[in-house]
Amino acid sequence: MKARIGLGVAACAVHCLGHPLGLSNISGEDVIMRDVAIIGGGSSGTHAAIRLKDHNQTVVVIERDGELGGHVRTYTANSGIRVNYGVSNFQNYSVVREFFSRFDIPLVQYVQPGDADVYVDFSTGQPVPNGTLPVPDFTAYLTEVAKYPYLGQSWELPDPVPEDLLLPFGDFVEKYNLQDVAFTIAQFAIGNGNVFEQTTIYVLKAVDYDYIQGIVYGQGVAPETYDTQSLFNKALVELGSDVLLSSTVYNASRSTAGIELVVKTPTGRKVVKAKKLLVTAPPLVDNLQPLGLDKKETDIFSKFQSHGLYTGLLNNTSLTPGARYYSADPNANATYDVPNLPDLQFIWATKDPDVYWAWYSSPTDVPEEKVKSDIIARFKDLAPGSNPEFIAYANDSPSTVGVSADEIRDGFYNDLLSLQGYKNTWYTGSTWVSDHSAELWNYTEYELLPKLM
Ligand SMILES: Cc1cc2nc3c(=O)[nH]c(=O)nc-3n(C[C@H](O)[C@H](O)[C@H](O)COP(=O)(O)OP(=O)(O)OC[C@H]3O[C@@H](n4cnc5c(N)ncnc54)[C@H](O)[C@@H]3O)c2cc1C
Repeated sequence: MKARIGLGVAACAVHCLGHPLGLSNISGEDVIMRDVAIIGGGSSGTHAAIRLKDHNQTVVVIERDGELGGHVRTYTANSGIRVNYGVSNFQNYSVVREFFSRFDIPLVQYVQPGDADVYVDFSTGQPVPNGTLPVPDFTAYLTEVAKYPYLGQSWELPDPVPEDLLLPFGDFVEKYNLQDVAFTIAQFAIGNGNVFEQTTIYVLKAVDYDYIQGIVYGQGVAPETYDTQSLFNKALVELGSDVLLSSTVYNASRSTAGIELVVKTPTGRKVVKAKKLLVTAPPLVDNLQPLGLDKKETDIFSKFQSHGLYTGLLNNTSLTPGARYYSADPNANATYDVPNLPDLQFIWATKDPDVYWAWYSSPTDVPEEKVKSDIIARFKDLAPGSNPEFIAYANDSPSTVGVSADEIRDGFYNDLLSLQGYKNTWYTGSTWVSDHSAELWNYTEYELLPKLM
């Protein structure tokens, strides 16, 4: 991203005269005029673009990757079966039913592929003895989560923020005797680093009331084909030239008068002029610097920290068909049998019996080579003599972009939300609302759309 800023400065040195962004030589067809420019075409950006169009707003989506979807990823295996290794199920909200129905995609109850959970000490490849892990009962956890109904919907928090939400999650587990669900929640909350050190509010947001209803009590939905990417492929067809794929902003001017973005696209430089800007990309300073962040914005965004999350599909594994393997550490020094990170946390069977989905997480970033070699080594320990191979890989970091408990106590999220609308720039995405697509779409539908139109 920094190189792109440099590119912007170089371009300015040549063309700066006569225009603050150095755009005097941009010709008519390279200027895109829209009501709303959207940065990031993942779950929230794509949904917002379609819904704005439905309300007769003109939009353009600027997406860094070569397709829409972000954390939505579906791979076509050799068998022809489409296998998700990203978003695969949704809470059964009306926004979800309506969005899929808009693209004629039928929904069914989501049932996770596979039929047997296996708990294994990944460091030895040996199953942990029966009875090591308690049978989870979510009643007490749900009682606690129900005290904070606002957590799923936004970061609008009471003042003062309840101190229980600011405890390290390990202390919260102890305080409310949630030991029986601790191991399972550590799996559900993957992407939070070492979960028992994480501030409770992030864990409760990740594993909220509706999430438990969906995943534990079978109320989640998925496309009939389980091909989540199909929704975003259809959205791409409909949005057509309103999407700039493989594109990034590298210079910008934002004010109450409007937005101008200089965008690097595969077909050259374009200028986007819009009344409003919607940012759905992660709000990290490095990522948003090309927008010309001022001190107020930089001071807020620079407080964010994040975790590492990586997923991949592997074949040639010789694993047991239909098994879902969870890494458990029966040693006394492991908290609630959850192994320390970074490491491979679990492996899921997929709809294709030859393909397994690996989930690796870390408190901090890990280079791709190390993630892959760690995963391959674990697979080989589980099935000695096998020769597992990656057929797909994704770096889903930054994961759980957040701040310290002290910052939350001191009103960080009020400061963050005060940026909504500042310089005609609006925000959504997992950092701003919740890391569940249904909740993101609800937020767009009921909170953002009225402000963007
Ligand atoms: C492996 C995995 C599985 C998941 N499973 C589920 C699930 O089953 N159900 C569920 O509800 N949630 C699931 N989630 C959570 C998921 O993150 C959210 O549901 C949702 O997809 C987040 O949407 P988003 O728009 O905030 O982010 P993203 O989907 O990450 O979209 C952000 C987009 O911005 C783009 N971008 C980033 N920086 C720039 C830039 N500078 N310029 C232009 N574009 C940029 C990215 O390429 C990306 O396309 C899962 C997450 C992961 C990682």
